[in-house]
Amino acid sequence: MKQSLCTIINNIEIMPGVHLISFESPYIAAIAQPGQFITIDCNDVLLRRPFSIHKANSGQVSILFQTVGKGTAWLSKQKNGNKLNILGPLGRAFNVNTKSKHLLLIGGGIGIAPLIFLIQRTLSEHLITLVHGANTASLLYPLSSLKFHNSKEKQRYENNSYPLIDSKFHYISVTNDGSSGYKGVATDVITDSLNWADQVFACGPTGMYITMLKLIENIQFSNPNTESNKYHQDNIEKLYKCQLSLEVRMGCGIGTCYGCSINTKNGMKKVCLDGPIFELDQILWDEILI
Ligand SMILES: Cc1cc2nc3c(=O)[nH]c(=O)nc-3n(C[C@H](O)[C@H](O)[C@H](O)COP(=O)(O)OP(=O)(O)OC[C@H]3O[C@@H](n4cnc5c(N)ncnc54)[C@H](O)[C@@H]3O)c2cc1C
Repeated sequence: MKQSLCTIINNIEIMPGVHLISFESPYIAAIAQPGQFITIDCNDVLLRRPFSIHKANSGQVSILFQTVGKGTAWLSKQKNGNKLNILGPLGRAFNVNTKSKHLLLIGGGIGIAPLIFLIQRTLSEHLITLVHGANTASLLYPLSSLKFHNSKEKQRYENNSYPLIDSKFHYISVTNDGSSGYKGVATDVITDSLNWADQVFACGPTGMYITMLKLIENIQFSNPNTESNKYHQDNIEKLYKCQLSLEVRMGCGIGTCYGCSINTKNGMKKVCLDGPIFELDQILWDEILI
């Protein structure tokens, strides 16, 4: 982890109210892992604001963020050439098991941010299904902005084998209003992919994680635990072990203030140090909601 002033290379509004900022940081680009985050000093806002690393390569790092308050409003107005005070990379990364081939990624809204970095780092060795749920079509992540610098990936991109469906990468879009893809929420369409997946990764609002827990209950309820439905038990286990990024309000971001502590089955954990990646069944969700 290092604090440095990083020059902005690009700041564009790629979806309504959602900005993609890229800045120079050879240090972070070299060592960051998918799931980790940075914090940014947003001018006169008291605490540094945390953002997942969205992309990192060739000495450049990007974040994807939604304007929700004072800090993100300030950030959205920064111009190319301005310097950002960045601290990172911070936190624990997603853990992709070396034996896993098939990865299911579930993004809710702006939760797509860290999943793109995970795709960027795993696509050459894995088969991936990405489910992205958004309120409406204009808030679905523009897959044309997926650019890969690894030569194999670059070739696939240039050959137009992105986006949508090819043999290695399958993209399923879902919108609440039905304006694109399936109508509903991301978790409505994951059952088939769950059968196929070796591991599940997610990032989205707390409500999405609660829906995943309800989905587990539904699978359990409609398929009582017998030897013959081991298949369903496997899916339940995969969902329980889903690695998710927990985006709670954060104080210092480096483990000193305890501001982001949560209660888990393994005791109190600091989201900034012990997370932000946790397994779904580790977290005591009732206490998060209070
Ligand atoms: C580890 C981590 C990674 C994150 N990654 C991203 C990301 O990649 N892209 C992105 O857009 N946002 C991300 N966030 C959330 C982001 O940090 C907040 O949106 C940001 O700090 C808001 O700052 P603000 O000053 O603009 O808003 P504030 O004035 O602080 O708050 C405005 C509104 O946003 C809500 N809010 C503030 N912080 C959070 C939060 N952490 N989670 C949920 N709601 C919040 C507040 O409740 C309030 O309603 C992440 C948060 C964490 C902890």
